[in-house]
Amino acid sequence: MRLKTEKERVAVLRIASEIVGAAGTYLREREFVEILPVLLSPITDPLHHETYAGAVDYYGAPYQLTKSMIFHKQIALRTLPRLFCFSPNVRLEPAERASFGRYLAEFVQLDLEVREASRDEVIELGEGLVVAVLKAVVARCADELALLGRNLRIPTAPFERVSYAEEAARFGEPFDDALSATLSAPAWVIDFPRRVREFYDREDPRRPDVLLDMDLVYPEGYGEALSGGEREFELERILDRLRRDAIPESRFAAYLSMVREGIPRSAGFGIGVERLTRYVAGLDRIEDARLFPKVPGDTRAI
Ligand code: AMP
Ligand code: MG
Repeated sequence: MRLKTEKERVAVLRIASEIVGAAGTYLREREFVEILPVLLSPITDPLHHETYAGAVDYYGAPYQLTKSMIFHKQIALRTLPRLFCFSPNVRLEPAERASFGRYLAEFVQLDLEVREASRDEVIELGEGLVVAVLKAVVARCADELALLGRNLRIPTAPFERVSYAEEAARFGEPFDDALSATLSAPAWVIDFPRRVREFYDREDPRRPDVLLDMDLVYPEGYGEALSGGEREFELERILDRLRRDAIPESRFAAYLSMVREGIPRSAGFGIGVERLTRYVAGLDRIEDARLFPKVPGDTRAI
């Protein structure tokens, strides 16, 4: 649906607020510590797809607006074993992406990371988190869901797992929307090929070019929910991945010096808050999921 009334907008904002509260409670109850977001840094996520660089002149040094806190999460794990952050990300996505209804140029990720965790462990955590959030919304926002005409089904864990290679053979690439349209409950896509992901996603030591990562895909055509996986943490392997992806080491000098000192083995993921709100509230377009949305290309945004 598209929002038509102020009452509907209030209902969505109450649902979004419940989502943020329930997710934070779920994680705090599991000994996660919330850290504050970083907005400016010489290093940020290179991302696999092109976005315009959001650069800032930081006392004469070129700093970037955060595209994700991946590197800061890995470094922060030296201090805290389980952490999360509601992290504002700025990704100046190509304007053509506005038509998909699920991209914003500024959005918030619930980004989390766990020291010494495997992919299976963070998959289980993700399932618990999504189910807990949906249950909280159904229990506490029944009137809001009714006003929006949303009949939200609560899935049961474990969610189905499908492999990237099989889905790519079935639908072609990219396939998240086509897969999502066939689903009636969220499902995991696992084992992405190296060519479609970033250098920090851990390559399976037994299967070259296959990554120990995953996406969660929402049902009913809402598309990708989250991305995550195990991370590379050893210097030699990271340098090798940079070489193979043709990324100059100088671009990540600040990160590499931390890796040289040592960062922990870990796994984690980031789930987009506006996309989760869109799915929970049953919205056609992501810009209805928050106030002050930045739709890619729309320079009237405030
Ligand atoms: P990524 O690791 O790049 O997949 O980002 C993590 C999550 O953030 C995604 O799975 C989405 O839920 C969300 N996300 C990524 N890019 C955007 C965007 N441009 N607008 C809104 N949400 C996004
Ligand atoms: Mg992703």
